[in-house]
Amino acid sequence: MIRLTFDTERCKACELCAAVCPKHILALNADLVNLKGYHPMGCIDMASCIACASCAKMCPDSVITIEKI
Ligand code: SF4
Ligand code: SF4
Repeated sequence: MIRLTFDTERCKACELCAAVCPKHILALNADLVNLKGYHPMGCIDMASCIACASCAKMCPDSVITIEKI
């Protein structure tokens, strides 16, 4: 099982992670606003994640952590 976690307070909503996700399952969460004033990134379909780690490597702020549990 794959666990994807987001340090949402660090996210600056640049969407670089979403641009490189081959499964197109990352999107900004319009229901949340972090302390920086951004809608933070989240995963909209965790079951489709293949744990390729492209998103985590791309994120300039180390927001995303991927674990196989
Ligand atoms: S690990 Fe890969 S498939 Fe999963 S959300 Fe990140 S880029 Fe997408
Ligand atoms: S690349 Fe990082 S900072 Fe940019 S939207 Fe994705 S999680 Fe947020």
